[in-house]
Amino acid sequence: MKVFKFGGASVKNADAVKNVASILSLFEGEKLTVVVSAMGKTTNKLEEIVTALKNQNRKEFMGLIEELELFHEDILADLFPEKHFTIYNTIEAIFEELKEKINKPFSENTSFEYDQIVSLGEVISSHIVAVYLTEQGFSAEWMDARQLVRTDNNYQEGKVDWSKTEFLIQSKFLPAFSNSTILVTQGFLGHTPEGFTTTLGREGSDYTAGIFAFCGNAESVTIWKDVPGMLNADPKYFEDTIKLDKISFKEAIELSYYGASVIHPKTIKPLQNKGISLFVKSFIEPLAEGTVIQSSTSNDELVPSFIFKKEQTLYSFTPKDFSFIVEENLSDIFNQLSLAKAKINLMQNSALSFSILVDSQKTSPETILNLFSANYEVRYNEGLELVTIRHYDEATIDRVTKNKEIILQQRTRHTARFVLKSI
Ligand code: ASP
Repeated sequence: MKVFKFGGASVKNADAVKNVASILSLFEGEKLTVVVSAMGKTTNKLEEIVTALKNQNRKEFMGLIEELELFHEDILADLFPEKHFTIYNTIEAIFEELKEKINKPFSENTSFEYDQIVSLGEVISSHIVAVYLTEQGFSAEWMDARQLVRTDNNYQEGKVDWSKTEFLIQSKFLPAFSNSTILVTQGFLGHTPEGFTTTLGREGSDYTAGIFAFCGNAESVTIWKDVPGMLNADPKYFEDTIKLDKISFKEAIELSYYGASVIHPKTIKPLQNKGISLFVKSFIEPLAEGTVIQSSTSNDELVPSFIFKKEQTLYSFTPKDFSFIVEENLSDIFNQLSLAKAKINLMQNSALSFSILVDSQKTSPETILNLFSANYEVRYNEGLELVTIRHYDEATIDRVTKNKEIILQQRTRHTARFVLKSI
């Protein structure tokens, strides 16, 4: 069995869904698990719907749902020109149930409500794709990930119960391949032991592909994207990007740790654990090579990779009593930062000061000053950029630091990191 994951952009309209079918026709007769995301920007819309519901803003709530319903109806009208198809009723019923929520009490647990609503994007898209494939003559079946991926009760960030999920996929999912060659399911979704829907965190559909591959002992996973593969830098920030043909799991984890955003970071671990290759391919050019991520590290150093993080703030803490920065105050600083859910992108210490770099938009100076100004002198520097180079040399360093002031730098054998300020 192979696992294919189609993200929001690859099912963003009727033509995109038709393209999915044409990609699948290249794999005739093969057993395929097809994991789909919500169509286009549906998840963002559903998030707005949750906010409107929470605020009990009926007009906004209904307006947003109508917009989303129309968006899906247009796709249906193109894919299924004859109205007798039951898919119309299936999708309508989902929207009717959603609208009813305005007449029901909103749970105190917003994350619970979030998951019950935001999950619908994947439910809808998977129904549409499964029915379309069947209509086109594929042997395809819709499968409900909400009964297969078991998580804890941590709504919005469900933590996977691997042994339960493995049992469910082995006993309830794989046997369906005896009837159908293509099983279509939802990315991003799971369920609690009590049967409530959970989600796995934004962009979690890649992770779902990893979960099905691990639990179903897949031969490989392919993530179909609108880029030719994994590139050595984000083309938004960098000219002349190069495609990475082949990299190791380890390198892929390093790149995503530093902020490369092609693959959801949690996806790699289950695949690495079972040595299941991960392909990143273009849904626009499905026959092109793409990138393969696998166990061998032999190609990792061939191409330097660049990861840019803009809008960074560097904070430095100096204990007011002039004590050294040692284990006790470090553990105090980390504790406070973790309570504030601040994510540290880089850190450094000296005898009397400890510095961290964080995303300016996620952690504000007020938060940091409130937490630390009683015991520490806090200084900060905004408007910075963090550049990480994997497999650097002097030429690559010159390239990214040109016309910039280097505020801080760290180098290991394979990785160089620079906190930069524009001059
Ligand atoms: N639809 C979800 C999101 O947009 C999950 C995914 O597409 O990976 O975050």
